[in-house]
Amino acid sequence: MRKLAAGNWKMNGMAASLAEVKALLAAHPDPACEMLLCPPATLIAQAAWATKGSALKLGGQDCHPKASGAHTGDIAAAMLADAGASYVILGHSERRADHGETDALVLSKAQAAWAAGLSAVICVGETEAERDDARTLDVVGSQLAGSVPEGATGANTVIAYEPVWAIGTGRTPTLAEIAEVHAFLRNRLAARFGEEAAEMRLLYGGSVKPSNAAEIFAIGDVDGALVGGASLKAADFGAIVAALAAA
Ligand code: PEP
Repeated sequence: MRKLAAGNWKMNGMAASLAEVKALLAAHPDPACEMLLCPPATLIAQAAWATKGSALKLGGQDCHPKASGAHTGDIAAAMLADAGASYVILGHSERRADHGETDALVLSKAQAAWAAGLSAVICVGETEAERDDARTLDVVGSQLAGSVPEGATGANTVIAYEPVWAIGTGRTPTLAEIAEVHAFLRNRLAARFGEEAAEMRLLYGGSVKPSNAAEIFAIGDVDGALVGGASLKAADFGAIVAALAAA
């Protein structure tokens, strides 16, 4: 399995930000892990042109479950692929919270992503109140069951465990807490998908930065990271890529 360092730029980035993409590739032209950036949809095609033939993969941050039609403002998975994406993040907690996305909707988006040839990065994670109530495993187990379609494989699906309270806050779970959730996710995937579960990458996301990346990547069943804020700067994301490549 090739580990994956994925960056989520969220609603950040203008054409000038492609300088960061070029700087990242100049410093890490051929890392020993997969390197993915998910800029806003407006930048995917430009980023694809600017990085053509390189080791960098590109992804979208969401897609519509339908292939085309009267859905103003939405983007179909095939449009992301056409622009140069090979991945799409689905069910990020910000979309679940801001847009009321349910597990069933995320599942149908994953099917749309696969139909367009994209790999789906499906996000799960508990809120702080759910963790305080000792419901973390129940919540992520139920999100996993409801959001991941039948037919998931290591090639078409990546799971990102992102505790909502750790996103953009500078706070992270303990290493033991991350290990517990990742082992639980792997077991649940194995119960459902058998040996294929060993091929599905499990990313940790939530305030990953250069200073904590190596210790997180040393945890069993952590196969990479989904990185928000620290992916915006080539130097920070490059340090995280290097830590994963060395893990
Ligand atoms: C994210 O939004 O996916 C994320 C993990 O953000 P941050 O790294 O900024 O916490």
